[in-house]
Amino acid sequence: MTQPHTATPATAPRDLAGYRAVFVHAHPDDEAITTGGAIADLAARGADVLVVTCTLGEEGEVIGETYQHLVADEADQLGGFRIGELGASISNMRARSEFLGGAGRFRDSGMAGSPASRNPRAFVNAGPEAVELLAGILRRERPHLVVTYGPDGGYGHPDHIHAHEIAHAAAEQVGVPRILWAVRLAEGTAALMPDRAPDGWRLPEDGELDGVERSDIRLELNDAAYSAKIEAMRAHATQLWIADGRVSATNPHGALAEGPVVYYALSNLIVQPIQRVEHYQLGAGVPVTDPSGGLLGGIER
Ligand SMILES: [Zn+2]
Repeated sequence: MTQPHTATPATAPRDLAGYRAVFVHAHPDDEAITTGGAIADLAARGADVLVVTCTLGEEGEVIGETYQHLVADEADQLGGFRIGELGASISNMRARSEFLGGAGRFRDSGMAGSPASRNPRAFVNAGPEAVELLAGILRRERPHLVVTYGPDGGYGHPDHIHAHEIAHAAAEQVGVPRILWAVRLAEGTAALMPDRAPDGWRLPEDGELDGVERSDIRLELNDAAYSAKIEAMRAHATQLWIADGRVSATNPHGALAEGPVVYYALSNLIVQPIQRVEHYQLGAGVPVTDPSGGLLGGIER
């Protein structure tokens, strides 16, 4: 398949007003890490963007000391805290936010095989209800585009795989013109690594980071979309740190990684580049034939 290069214009006209897009994500922070540039681009160009998040991310790890005791094995307050982080992230990207079934309806299922996956409220145990709830949202929103992950969930997390499954089932039930999968190219990640990691962080081992070999759409981010993505990611400070030297109440440890882009790390403190490009594969529906329309190119209003 050909790969249209689509770029976010330097001065965004509201050329996508009247379009609607729905992003379906598993946990707070996925929207920023995997699709933050696209959300910011679509919203800045006038499209109405709704992010549907399926769980509160209760089983996540916490970086740093400040909020360490919120985790599931201790206070089990991380999910409520992450509602605030998600709200800040999404307002940075000028989108709207909604939890599937309301905040707290479905719980983070944890990694494959973990005890959390046997909780009756775990998202992986949601059954047909999750598809019905999402189909209801899509009937109300009537989006031109649904964005989620590929069948492997990007890196195999059961909630990401389940988000993919319900997004396809609901979008096909309602008749959404296009479904895209957010992916990360392995070669893009490798090419942008800094020479060395900040103190306390480390570089990835070969094959340690997820990545695919090809994509159908390459979305180049302009400065505004790139900055909005970084600030959206920064809002998830219990989950990831940005290595640009800044500190906050949640992240008191300033780190600076020098290289061609801005870098971040999850709780494993492995350096990862925040790329100035996002990649998408066509999951179903109308291929992107008009790169000027970004992820909505080629779909009739
Ligand atoms: Zn996730």
